[in-house]
Amino acid sequence: MKNYKIAVVPGDGIGNEIVPEGYRVLEAVAKKHNFSINSDSFEWGAGYYLKHGKFLPDDGLETLKGYDAVYFGSVGLPAVDDTLPAKDYTFKVRTSFNQYVNYRPVRTYPGVTRPLRSEKHIDFVIVRENTEGEFVQMGGQYLPDEENGMGTDTSVFTRKGIERVAHYAFKLARKRRNKVTHITKSNTLINSLAYWDRVIKEVAEQYPDVEHEQMYIDNSTAMFVLKPEIFDVVLTTNLFGDILSDLGGAIMGSLGLGGSGNVNPEKEFPSMFEPIHGSAPDIAGNNIANPYGQIWSAAIMLEHLGEVEAAQSIMEAIDKSTSEGVLTVDLGGSAKTSDVADAVIKNL
Ligand code: NAD
Repeated sequence: MKNYKIAVVPGDGIGNEIVPEGYRVLEAVAKKHNFSINSDSFEWGAGYYLKHGKFLPDDGLETLKGYDAVYFGSVGLPAVDDTLPAKDYTFKVRTSFNQYVNYRPVRTYPGVTRPLRSEKHIDFVIVRENTEGEFVQMGGQYLPDEENGMGTDTSVFTRKGIERVAHYAFKLARKRRNKVTHITKSNTLINSLAYWDRVIKEVAEQYPDVEHEQMYIDNSTAMFVLKPEIFDVVLTTNLFGDILSDLGGAIMGSLGLGGSGNVNPEKEFPSMFEPIHGSAPDIAGNNIANPYGQIWSAAIMLEHLGEVEAAQSIMEAIDKSTSEGVLTVDLGGSAKTSDVADAVIKNL
């Protein structure tokens, strides 16, 4: 029997509620599909920082390397400086483990009312470059308290970084509906994003069977709302992808619906799977958080590990549950976080 070692990092806020529920689904699907999961849970994040002065222990990354994947919630608490969670946990894992693809699918959930007028089916994937771009955190604040103070952040786009994520996007499109829309703003960011366009176009030439379209970020935000059905694979930069995927969550019906994977496609390191949203401290502790995105992230993780049928089972069970009206407060329902996991497990 195949066994997978999973590091579970619930993080902060609602992570502590939705990760255990997602893990219950994982255990149930493993039983059904005849594989086993061994896990260890790590109480890292902003809560850990308040006690220990760091988000994870010094050997934390080394520890994670011993696992097949990381099943993560989210980090951040109002009591902790919010410039730290990404720098000291999320980006640290993503960059140290070469998780250069942030795979963020967007789709219609049956039985969920969407805020859009169009009832057309939506099914696309945002492929967000995940290790460079606008989020490299190179810059500084100079004389911040002075009248002539300033702050800078520099974006970094490397040929290697663009090529590898572009190849991933075009290969993914071949398994889907054969279209890549790459998002840019090269009409104003004439160095970094003009280079991004140029390298993506070079990669696109190697995939003549895949339709390739370029779209400006401003237009794409409008198109996400007006014509989301035109997208198949959306290839985007770190910052644009961060913003667009929340919009993706919103057009599905709630931020709580989005699952994702921080993927190292070569499997040199463990990949990390998490919902697209944050720790939602405003609703934490009430068993009302929507866990569908966290459960979907478990399916994305299983697909990455090669358990494709088990991943499919989870998605079918999710669809059955939302169709039956098992909806949390953010979706207009009254189901508790744990009710959703119960329903998904029953429907497996
Ligand atoms: P957020 O995504 O946590 O919450 C935004 C809004 O969406 C809130 O009103 C929240 O209640 C709601 N929401 C989010 N997830 C939900 C769910 N599953 N069910 C129902 N409602 C849900 O974003 P924020 O408020 O901007 O940030 C809160 C904290 O999370 C901050 O500390 C931020 O840095 C952190 N954060 C962490 C990650 C991560 O760890 N990857 C990502 C984003 C934000």
